[in-house]
Amino acid sequence: MSYDDDNIFAKILRGEAPAHVVDEDDVSLTFMDLMPQSEGHTLIIPKESAEDILHVSTEALGHVIRQTQRVAKAVDQAFHPDGVMIAQLNRAPAGQTVFHLHFHVIPRWSGEAMPFMAREMADPKNLKENAEKIRRYLINIV
Ligand code: AMP
Repeated sequence: MSYDDDNIFAKILRGEAPAHVVDEDDVSLTFMDLMPQSEGHTLIIPKESAEDILHVSTEALGHVIRQTQRVAKAVDQAFHPDGVMIAQLNRAPAGQTVFHLHFHVIPRWSGEAMPFMAREMADPKNLKENAEKIRRYLINIV
């Protein structure tokens, strides 16, 4: 499958669709998942047009992985979850639904169900507050 410029994350990168942005640099964008699996569910994407991990440059991937670790630390400090899940899916049979490479940072709490699909749209006010909360910790993480 080749990269489709009309996917929703490409639109977010071009400013054609809204997002609750946590952080942005030359190589990556970090924003809140619109249908979070838990409070604080955050996504990290490269700006490079890569549909999955098999198609991204090693340079961009390295940067995005480092950013994913920073975000995981910030989410951990902001929400104090019992665990932090990092997820990354490649192609539809693996569960990928948006075909622009992304890493999920998902806080997990003991005893909570761990669904990976079928969530509800979050309240925009809540997403905005969570983006700000994560950003406050992220700025202090190298
Ligand atoms: P995946 O199943 O790994 O492809 O994950 C795609 C993720 O993108 C899901 O967790 C969706 O909730 C999320 N998502 C879809 N559209 C948007 C959007 N417009 N803004 C933020 N997150 C989105």
